[in-house]
Amino acid sequence: MRPTSTKNFDFKEPLIARAPQQQSFWAKLSSANLKPLVFASVIGLAAMTASFAFTKGSDLLADANSSNAPSDYQILEKKIALALPAEPGMRLSETQTTQQAKVTTISSPPTVQSTTPLVPMTETPLYTLPPTSASSSIEPSCTEETVRSGDSLSLIFSRHNISANTLEAVVRVGGKKTLTRLLPGQKFHFCFDEQQHLASMKYGLSELETLVLERAPGGEYTKNTTTREYQRLTAYGGGTIKNSLFLSAKRAGLSEKLTMELAHIFGWDIDFVLDIRSGDEFFVVYEELYLDGELKGTGHIISAEFVNQGKTYQAVRYTDSQDKVDYYTPDGHSMRKAFLRTPVNFSRISSGFNLKRKHPVLHTVRAHKGVDYAAPTGTPVKASGDGKITLRGRKGGYGRTVVIQHGTKYSTLYAHLSSYKSGLKTGSRVRQGQVIGYVGQSGLATGPHLHYEFRVNGVHRNPLTVKLPQADPIAPSEKNRFVELTSPLVREMASLKAAQYAETGRAIQTP
Ligand SMILES: [Zn+2]
Repeated sequence: MRPTSTKNFDFKEPLIARAPQQQSFWAKLSSANLKPLVFASVIGLAAMTASFAFTKGSDLLADANSSNAPSDYQILEKKIALALPAEPGMRLSETQTTQQAKVTTISSPPTVQSTTPLVPMTETPLYTLPPTSASSSIEPSCTEETVRSGDSLSLIFSRHNISANTLEAVVRVGGKKTLTRLLPGQKFHFCFDEQQHLASMKYGLSELETLVLERAPGGEYTKNTTTREYQRLTAYGGGTIKNSLFLSAKRAGLSEKLTMELAHIFGWDIDFVLDIRSGDEFFVVYEELYLDGELKGTGHIISAEFVNQGKTYQAVRYTDSQDKVDYYTPDGHSMRKAFLRTPVNFSRISSGFNLKRKHPVLHTVRAHKGVDYAAPTGTPVKASGDGKITLRGRKGGYGRTVVIQHGTKYSTLYAHLSSYKSGLKTGSRVRQGQVIGYVGQSGLATGPHLHYEFRVNGVHRNPLTVKLPQADPIAPSEKNRFVELTSPLVREMASLKAAQYAETGRAIQTP
């Protein structure tokens, strides 16, 4: 691997010779304005994944236990990840850090011979000197260092023969707090001048932030922090639910995080515990985050569609002129409602839940005036809307119960709790989504579940079907901007979906 004595030509030269070459390569690509092409090809790749996932998903539906199918999918996913760095879209916004990042990707120092063609002819004498310690000590050089377990800045500095005075000056400027909490795997990049002074130091604070110290003529250091940004590429995935949303979404290439987000976006209209049916469809357009051509994770959902029991719901992400971000229907209604459909943390229930096996409604006995969510004891229970607690205590067969009054018209009740959220009492104000207690089986209950009631003007209504107060539409002053910014997203989603269906030869099945 990397030599410990880093100030020699073997290591330095490729870095110097190579970086400008790569930089001009990237710069050329960025100036060629290939963006539409990039987008098209990335979409093309994404289309391959998604359609594959879709076909694969359908195949799997016939044989849910097929064990080799998921691994096929993983292989394809890997291929796409590998293919992406070659795309011109991988260029970075910041040239300086590009260079640095490229440097860090060199895992083993190439030999002098292998890099000779990259060296401009005029500079050949400089770079073809034999790598002797005598000559390297008078040349500027750069090296990098990865923090090891148990490392400190002074240990690292001593490995590079950097003086205690320099250490002091660096810590003074860089900040003691920043430079004493080193984590294994973090990277340092040092450059030395002809006098072997530490000319500059770069330290990766995070995946996106780098601390840069540069030596001023007097020996003091100046500090800068450079921030990179992920490159965001559009990806998509969709499928039909057979047994579980989470399983189907996974087959479509969506991470659990994205699936959760999808459920949160539509969670105001759809109860993801009780409403989901085999045959429901979903489609998600989202961001993939890249650094140096490497997939680092997923970003936001840009647009999404969910077909639940034949009814189609659509959502688009919109950042308003005050930088407030939210999801809206294409015609400008907020996806948010005054009440959550599901007052339990549904992921605890539905992630392992199989639609084929058992429906989670425990019992719909005579005079049963609410809905029951079977869930493990301790599952958090959330206030479905903003309001004031009017009861927190035992209530006959209901056991430990919380009742919340929402304005004058609505109230909700949560029963059989194992315990209450500490700090809440009768009279406390709660926000929508705030945890108020935990699932249990206090009172007359045959197993742990949440019994939930919804009342309108004191009359019990079915929480699953009650028409909830209409969401606030987009402000009139935002309407034009909203249409301008989101209608392309709606069109994009439609065309991506059409592409996916065309690939898989499936027709969109909406009544
Ligand atoms: Zn019940």
